[in-house]
Amino acid sequence: MTKVGTIASVDAIPLRIPFTYTGDRGSSFPGLDWNTLDICLVKVTTDTGLVGWGDAFAYHCLEPITAVVEHMIRPNVLGQDASDITGLSHRLQQKFHLFGRHGHTTFALSGLDIALWDIAGKASGLSLSALLGGVRKTLPAYASLFILRNVDAVVEDVTQAKAQGYDYIKLHEIGAAEVGAARMTAGDDIPIMVDVNCPWTPEEARRNALILDEFDLYWLEEPIFPPEDYHALARLRRETGVPLAAGENWCTSWAFAHACQAGAIDFAQPSVTKVGGITEFRKAAAICESHGVQVMAHSPYFGPGFLATLHLAASLPSPGLIERFFIKMEGELYPGWFDPIDGAFRVPDGPGLGVEPDAAVIKEFAVK
Ligand SMILES: [Mg+2]
Repeated sequence: MTKVGTIASVDAIPLRIPFTYTGDRGSSFPGLDWNTLDICLVKVTTDTGLVGWGDAFAYHCLEPITAVVEHMIRPNVLGQDASDITGLSHRLQQKFHLFGRHGHTTFALSGLDIALWDIAGKASGLSLSALLGGVRKTLPAYASLFILRNVDAVVEDVTQAKAQGYDYIKLHEIGAAEVGAARMTAGDDIPIMVDVNCPWTPEEARRNALILDEFDLYWLEEPIFPPEDYHALARLRRETGVPLAAGENWCTSWAFAHACQAGAIDFAQPSVTKVGGITEFRKAAAICESHGVQVMAHSPYFGPGFLATLHLAASLPSPGLIERFFIKMEGELYPGWFDPIDGAFRVPDGPGLGVEPDAAVIKEFAVK
């Protein structure tokens, strides 16, 4: 047991790592060119020499998130007790509430929170999942295919995912042609999920959900804009019977409380780099459990947030499936840990997050 000490430094390290995907045609999402994965690493050191790593959600917003960590988070936490994680989470949320309890502020707080939990694990000599009371060594994976908008590319990726041992596959498609092709290729035994990323009004969602229901969806994800229209989601569930998933765009556990009270979802998708870190994820998960809603963590990441998700899921009574973005990264911070074996991810058992990020990869892809 090492003394945790006080927070001596907080650094944001912005990374921009190119990636490729099947049938790459210079895709865009949503309306943005997307061919690099942006990661805002948050490195926290304590005056006792411990180092923790977190990440703040930064897709398409790397520079602003970096600035929030450096100019809002850092000055407010230097010298604070690094073991006071829930206290810091509460005080910073209260202090920053006037900037909105969603978006950049909460993403940056998430990065800090993950780093502090990494430190707590390292200080105790326990893996994060062990610290949180979990003993699972493996977790079932699902392949989360890129936005392909192309039947041939969908068929190719579904074939590849099956060959790599995935037992569950998620599409980011809207069209019946792509979803139907995935169902044909996957066969009847592979559950298929469809994530449409909030394109529809409630009435459009009802029509499209009934069309896609023909392909026996395990869940339909984020069918309605805005994503926080919990009552419209609840109506859609009731009227169509199609299982719904949402939550990656809900920040803090309060959003999950409102969603659960409304009966909005079958599957809850808190995102550890967005929701407020490990502290808020755990609260959200407890709320969902008490409403009989299964957690299916949002984790299309390749930074500390992915490892944090593994540990969190490993500590839940019902871990759900772990999302793996089905793209090919040019560099990986944790080589090997993103590759499932027999359809399952291993949970690292080293102290804290369990694996240190690759220093050479940080150096190569750091944004100057
Ligand atoms: Mg999604």
